Amino acid sequence: MSKLSLAYIFKQQQLLVDENFQLPEVEQLASDLNIGTGDQVIARDLLEDEPIPQGLQLIPIRQLLQLWNVKEFEQASRAIQLLEWRRNHKFCSHCGTATEVHATEYAMVCPACGYHQYPRVNPCVITVITRGKDEILLAKNARNARQMYGLIAGFVEVGETLEEAVRRETLEEVGIQVKNIQYLASQPWPFPSNLMIAFKAEYAAGELQLQEEEIADAAFFKFDHLPEIPFKGSIAHAMIMHAIHGTAVADDTEAWL
Ligand SMILES: [Zn+2]
Repeated sequence: MSKLSLAYIFKQQQLLVDENFQLPEVEQLASDLNIGTGDQVIARDLLEDEPIPQGLQLIPIRQLLQLWNVKEFEQASRAIQLLEWRRNHKFCSHCGTATEVHATEYAMVCPACGYHQYPRVNPCVITVITRGKDEILLAKNARNARQMYGLIAGFVEVGETLEEAVRRETLEEVGIQVKNIQYLASQPWPFPSNLMIAFKAEYAAGELQLQEEEIADAAFFKFDHLPEIPFKGSIAHAMIMHAIHGTAVADDTEAWL
């Protein structure tokens, strides 16, 4: 009998879990992507016409963020990103030949020219900006219909330092300058393959001036009069709590074990 593996089975941005939100165990297929280190853990795509196995359900990944702990979510995030990378690199981007899966590394290899395509992450800075002792800058995204106010975030551009990205994004989106930029923590974010890099900064100068395509509204809110903020489990939530209560953004105790 073939060995059973714990399986991350995805259909787009949804994951197959049982009624207790646990991963199912399945027999391994040759096409499965191995993501375990030691344990048997695989990732697989549920095909468009494949039925949902009995007793299992499809749950959006974002919802699992609230149900699972950080470690569990990080592994799911890794699984979804590796699958997406494999799906998007079926051909060599250099010469167009169909690629093959590397036997031991995460690499899609071209049998014609030898070019290796590795998974990539996109660095994205996210900044919590405070003014004085009791004000925080929160902004409402123009493309989000919800009344939720979040933090200033954006992709790092080629040739730019992380601090420059923080300054540029803040200036572009809300027209102000910041100072005392400090690193806080990071979080992999699989929508689709970002690494969120969290900073805190203080207001330095300028009047709020919104970039209309990006920001529908932004203001400095008093700590005790906040609007609706991002959900618990997101790095933005932890950053806002850090600014107000001084709590840790990431649990770094594991580094000591
Ligand atoms: Zn090639």
